[in-house]
Amino acid sequence: MENFKTNYKIELSYERARTALAETLASKGIADVRVLEAILKTPRHLFIDGAFSSRAYEDMSLPIGYRQTISQPYVVAKMTEILIKGNILEKKPLGAVLEIGTGCGYQAAVISRFCRKVFSLERIKPLAERAKENLKKAGIKNFLIRWSDGTLGWPVPKKFDAIICTAAIPEIPATLKTQLNIGGKLICPCGDQNKQSLVFLEKLAKDNYKETILDSVLFVPMLSGKIQD
Ligand code: SAH
Repeated sequence: MENFKTNYKIELSYERARTALAETLASKGIADVRVLEAILKTPRHLFIDGAFSSRAYEDMSLPIGYRQTISQPYVVAKMTEILIKGNILEKKPLGAVLEIGTGCGYQAAVISRFCRKVFSLERIKPLAERAKENLKKAGIKNFLIRWSDGTLGWPVPKKFDAIICTAAIPEIPATLKTQLNIGGKLICPCGDQNKQSLVFLEKLAKDNYKETILDSVLFVPMLSGKIQD
């Protein structure tokens, strides 16, 4: 009983912290209530190592080991908002969504609420393994994570309705554009470690893309090759 009470209190405090975070994101310009609701329902503390879990609901990126980070909630919310614009799950759902750079799995958890299935690639094996566990703990089932180099795209031929890159690269890899369905959308931080902007790409027809440059951002770099440990 004591244990139950303690756990309940902790859960309640996380819930309050999530509400405050959603309010912060709304005040920073996240307007889609579906996204704010997803932030409210996603237990970010489960995606963060113990040492930082007390800061899980601050609007900032935090270290997750292997010199990588969990993205800032505002950035996760913004990228999600852009990709789901015009998509209504019941009427016009996003089918398969591809993420490059699973990290701890938080962005995958948020976007999983808006698509049939999220496919995510991570080049660092222990992170890919941990992300699978994190998503399971968060009760999410519609995901597939693979340890693979995302610059090469999903390792078997497949088309996606949306692609989200959570690591920065100077130019959007051609393979990723090819793996996009016509009418599909891709969002990717482009640039180097000093200057990056979020690029939004829409596939209008085969080999016909429309690119829009959005906000300045700062992501860890997208690197080639796989890392075992
Ligand atoms: N999506 C995460 C943020 C991840 S940080 C979140 O929800 O918070 C970026 C991740 O991209 C890191 O884990 C890094 O290892 C990974 N990454 C970098 N280059 C990659 C590549 N070529 N393929 C797959 N993952 C890559």
